[in-house]
Amino acid sequence: MECIFCKIIEKKVPADILYEDDKVIVFKTIKPSAPIHLLAVPKKHIESIDYLLPEDSELIGDIFLIIKKIAREQGIDKSGYKVAINVGKGGGQEVFHIHFHLLGGWKNAKDRDIIGMP
Ligand code: AMP
Ligand code: ZN
Repeated sequence: MECIFCKIIEKKVPADILYEDDKVIVFKTIKPSAPIHLLAVPKKHIESIDYLLPEDSELIGDIFLIIKKIAREQGIDKSGYKVAINVGKGGGQEVFHIHFHLLGGWKNAKDRDIIGMP
């Protein structure tokens, strides 16, 4: 298995983990594009949104509730944040295990523009 996120989930590669349950893990990206930049990742290996199945809908819904909880814990729920998903190489996806970028904590509104985020 060459998937770096599966290796993080299996604890074969270290990561700064902020949340974990039986289905989802949240950890810090190694290349932050914002003062707070976390990745929410289902433990099930799904390549991208393009590979989602109807049976994954509850899992994806759960991830949004976890993102909401983590955003509160990080103190960015009131200031606001972005949740971003890159789909496919053309969409900027580099790791082909579906993940949700949680970005926030900007001091200035002008720093918020993350179009072109890796
Ligand atoms: P994407 O371009 O949407 O596929 O995003 C991939 C994300 O994974 C980027 O934020 C990378 O910095 C992050 N990333 C890649 N390898 C690791 C790693 N070993 N630990 C933590 N984050 C990683
Ligand atoms: Zn994987």
